[in-house]
Amino acid sequence: HSQELALQAQKTQAAFLANMSHEIRTPMNGVLGTLDLLLDTELKPEQHQLASASKRSAASLLSLLNDILDISKVESGQMTLRRSPLEIADVLADVEAALAFDAQSKNIELRCPAEGLPESVYVGDSVRLRQILLNLVGNAIKFTDVGHVKVTCRELSRTGQVATLEFAVKDTGVGIAPEHQKNLFKRFTQVDSSSTRRAQGSGLGLAIVKELVELMGGQVRLHSEPGNGTEVVFSLKLGLPTLSDSTERDQFAP
Ligand code: ADP
Repeated sequence: HSQELALQAQKTQAAFLANMSHEIRTPMNGVLGTLDLLLDTELKPEQHQLASASKRSAASLLSLLNDILDISKVESGQMTLRRSPLEIADVLADVEAALAFDAQSKNIELRCPAEGLPESVYVGDSVRLRQILLNLVGNAIKFTDVGHVKVTCRELSRTGQVATLEFAVKDTGVGIAPEHQKNLFKRFTQVDSSSTRRAQGSGLGLAIVKELVELMGGQVRLHSEPGNGTEVVFSLKLGLPTLSDSTERDQFAP
């Protein structure tokens, strides 16, 4: 009984956090928009610098809020997955496009080829799949100084109308020591040594990845060796398209 109460309390707290972070996002977007407008006006160099610094802080606060919103939504059972036609190549291209600049500016090769799948369209939540990949590829770029980051995918099995897919995000970065690996998927965990603590982040990324992957019926695991890069592999279950899915897609195609 007490365990039930504790679980209920945890759910209530998560629901509170989900509502709070949702509410805080609206004024925060106002702050960001206003700072954008301010930056478009004529400013002295020092004023421009100050406004830019405010905007960076506001943006990182917004991204933290989004992470808190997502994790608390999952924990309070409010996270629902969409079920619509999902073009894997589109998702991979989006991820590559979103992070190409970050990779280029570090001179890292980023490759997300949509190869190795028997279907081009599955059924599932493309927004959440993209979010998982953005988190993992973002981390891979963040913790890699030389070499490349590569995303691969394959279909592991299928039962009836459900396929299990596996994605792998592999980098040639700094790697993670064995003693730090097991806690990384817990909330707010970062490897906090001077050599790896390089970019700011909330420590929520991998926790969100794990929750989303499990919500999609999959599992996530990490292989890493200090100095030899990291590979994060996750599976997930997606629907196989039926005739009605493909006609739906054709109807709504732009
Ligand atoms: P953060 O917001 O700090 O990136 P994450 O949960 O995404 O939070 O990651 C937690 C920590 O795991 C990071 O701070 C980093 O120390 C380590 N980490 C994650 N991905 C990698 C990677 N590809 N290479 C090396 N370290 C990583």
